[in-house]
Amino acid sequence: MRNTIADLLVRNHLESYATDGICTLCEAICLAVSEKNKVMNLTAVKEPARMALLHITDSLSAAPYLPQNARVLDVGSGGGFPALPLAAARPDLRIVALDSTAKKMEFVKQTAESLGLRNLSTLSARAEEASHNDSLRGSFDVVISRAVASLPILCELCLPFVKKGGLFVAMKGEKAEEERALAGNAAKTLGGGDWQSIPLSLSDGVESFSRFLLICEKVGACEKKYPRSFAAMSKNPLK
Ligand code: SAM
Repeated sequence: MRNTIADLLVRNHLESYATDGICTLCEAICLAVSEKNKVMNLTAVKEPARMALLHITDSLSAAPYLPQNARVLDVGSGGGFPALPLAAARPDLRIVALDSTAKKMEFVKQTAESLGLRNLSTLSARAEEASHNDSLRGSFDVVISRAVASLPILCELCLPFVKKGGLFVAMKGEKAEEERALAGNAAKTLGGGDWQSIPLSLSDGVESFSRFLLICEKVGACEKKYPRSFAAMSKNPLK
């Protein structure tokens, strides 16, 4: 498994993270997720080699784009993706994994502790409630999120947490460009600037998957009325 992870990282231009130490940690993350998945629904990806590609390598595809020493929030982290692999590969980052499901955050917290990942902490909360808390609002250098919501809703869940000059990073699949069009001016309404779209190809040599990092810098303020309740943003997403 460790060798599989190393090979995948090299194949996907992430060779600087293919060290023994990082691959050993990522292997342990996969084993912990697999074990917990027997009693809790953390992921539909069960086969170890698939997990190495679709969770570990995919999570680490964002690593080169995160500024040094950044304080990072992973919104809707679930079983710890991308938070756990990022914490393993980038010890300079201080990462908070946030999810509304307390049991998932308990798993991520225990896994981080057992692997000695002291740069990862957890928060069990709904994003749209937590970002109205003064100690969290506008306080992160980077807010990242994978597989949580459509882009207009994700903008509202994530951008209020980002400090001015910081980054919102949406990890998206092949429909990223369509989503970006749908999101229209949602990011601007929330203090975001223009989008940068980084195309990535995730491959194990047999299959390849199209991925995009959609990155938006926070350039202005976000009105207090955002985020709205989840029901309100779902019923009437920002356009
Ligand atoms: N990011 C992980 C990944 O890529 O494997 C988990 C993705 S999972 C499909 C979506 C996660 O987002 C779930 O764990 C869910 O509890 C969480 N979530 C959805 N809406 C949320 C919200 N408003 N606030 C916090 N967490 C939320």
